[in-house]
Amino acid sequence: MKGWSIRDSAELYNIGGWSNGYFDLNEEGNIILTRGATGTHDIDIKKVADDLVRRGLSMPLLLRFSDVLRQQVEQIHKAFNDKIDEYGYEGSYKLVMPIKVNQQRHVVEELLEYGRPHGLGLEAGSKPELLVAIALQSGGGGGLVVCNGYKDTAYVETALLAQRLGVQTLLIVDRFQELQVIVEAAKRLGLEPNIGVRAKLSTRGSGRWAESGGDRSKFGLTAGEMVRAVHVLQEEGMLDRLKCLHFHIGSQITAIRAVKDALTEASRVFIDLYKMGAPLEFVDVGGGLAVDYDGSKTNFHASRNYSLEEYAADVVYQLLGALDEAEVPHPTIISESGRALVAHHSVLVFDVVGRTEEITQLPPPPDSDTEHQIIEEMREVATTVNRKNFQEAYHDAVQLKEDAMSLYRHGILDLEDRAKVEQLFWGTARKIWKMVRELPYIPEDVESLPNQLADIYYCNFSLFQSVPDSWAVKALFPVVPLHRHREQPTRNAILADLTCDSDGKMDQFIGLHDVKNTLELHPLDGSDPYVLGIFLIGAYQEILGDLHNLFGDVNAVHIASKPEGGYSVKHVVEGDRVRDVLGYVSYDQRTLMERLRAGIESALQMGNISFEQSAALLRHYEAGLAGYTYLENRDHLERLLSSIVPQPHLQVVKPGA
Ligand code: PLP
Repeated sequence: MKGWSIRDSAELYNIGGWSNGYFDLNEEGNIILTRGATGTHDIDIKKVADDLVRRGLSMPLLLRFSDVLRQQVEQIHKAFNDKIDEYGYEGSYKLVMPIKVNQQRHVVEELLEYGRPHGLGLEAGSKPELLVAIALQSGGGGGLVVCNGYKDTAYVETALLAQRLGVQTLLIVDRFQELQVIVEAAKRLGLEPNIGVRAKLSTRGSGRWAESGGDRSKFGLTAGEMVRAVHVLQEEGMLDRLKCLHFHIGSQITAIRAVKDALTEASRVFIDLYKMGAPLEFVDVGGGLAVDYDGSKTNFHASRNYSLEEYAADVVYQLLGALDEAEVPHPTIISESGRALVAHHSVLVFDVVGRTEEITQLPPPPDSDTEHQIIEEMREVATTVNRKNFQEAYHDAVQLKEDAMSLYRHGILDLEDRAKVEQLFWGTARKIWKMVRELPYIPEDVESLPNQLADIYYCNFSLFQSVPDSWAVKALFPVVPLHRHREQPTRNAILADLTCDSDGKMDQFIGLHDVKNTLELHPLDGSDPYVLGIFLIGAYQEILGDLHNLFGDVNAVHIASKPEGGYSVKHVVEGDRVRDVLGYVSYDQRTLMERLRAGIESALQMGNISFEQSAALLRHYEAGLAGYTYLENRDHLERLLSSIVPQPHLQVVKPGA
């Protein structure tokens, strides 16, 4: 039998499928950011994580890779520009970053920096987002801001006035009532608005967010409302300000068919509005460009059955065909491709802090003369199971376990007897699975064995804070160990987070052919921390995350490659301290300390606590308030510090030094 290789590991975790070429494995068996991403050299992500721990930053860490952001900006523009050239489309392309997808200042600023040569725009879906977008796009240069979401007078006036700062605001009428607000504000301020209408297309998207489109969608104007909008603008003498047709049929559109259908319908609307006298200059195709989270290239909800190039080709081609036939000039194409732009750039890195006891691997309990008959029978099944009788043995074992439970409930078996039965049952189950997994066909009744036998790996992160979509909509993200890929992962596990919520677990993983209920992981070797990464979490996860159990924001670190090799830490955005999250729920440090001191004082008076114990409690309490909300692995840090190899690109900072 050939040994395990790094390529086996890459295949098992389907890294080539979902990584878009940005991640791979190196000869050491660590996961890397590839030279494809940096343009020059690989960066070992496990080593980056170790370096950061040595700098005193605790896991979980959110690593944001600037190189990936830059590459995504380039790739999306290139895909559209290539198709525009190839098909002879006469308009241009503008990518707009919907900041709801990741509002973090450093992320948005980096995107604007990389997107400057292309005139990257921003999309705002609310008043707070508008205020951010205007500030970041002001200062000349004609930065585009697409204004979506509910609009009141203040929103509209702010957007209109921002034009005076050189910001090109495009006010999209999402609900018919907003048109009047825009018209009145423009008249009042004496400013010329750039107006867009969002069409409520009857075409629906595909996948989880299909409800965002279609006749019952929340936003957009019906055909009748669009006609009325044209008439209102005509009457107001403002039809020349109707510049844009916008639509959005949902995020993560999994099937290209839905994109084509939407474009066909939208092209018709565009032509009709144009023919009614609206001098449209833009068509905004919204978001929806999907991310292939599982790498399957199918129309499964975690994937997409098309490439970026195919998406761009279809958008350009569908529009071109329809517009040329109707002899309508080609508008600038805007896409609000948020997820596709930022999903790949961030990775959550965390350590495994323990795992469930191996009940399934304990040796069979010792035989005794006086044991209950049911234990004897279970022992018989456990010792006689073989390749020929495994199915029958499994049925017998399940039956005996159920009978044993019933005897226990009636007080006939005691806790020790019950434990023996369970131990023998799990030993039998493991034996059966070992036999069965080699077979070409796995009988249905034992199919669920891997799940039942799976370990639970307890991990230092909060699902609700860092990957909320995994809980809320059962979204899939690739989970991969950062190291040990030269070793075959021999355990099957599910992941449990630090929250005390039974939902705080991951038990669905990307698979080559199907969703897997367990993930192949390495055994914990007790000395070095086992470090895992959840990939492709750059879109939506951070802002949707919540403070369940008061686990706060994690330490976020921006990493950028250096042209001469190595990497630099561009920004460290420190995660919440315990006192911060307590502050969010109105506990203030001073009052808590006061209360604790009062409690200590009365315990001292009653002789319930010694001076030394009270001092120790106070120390722990104060350190706790100042500490990270997650587990701080001091041992890991000490080990790393004691094995320091000087790194040319890094100044090693010993905490407290
Ligand atoms: N534009 C609008 C109007 C949206 O509602 C959304 C999100 O659903 C987006 C753009 C971003 O979509 P995506 O992240 O799928 O590109």
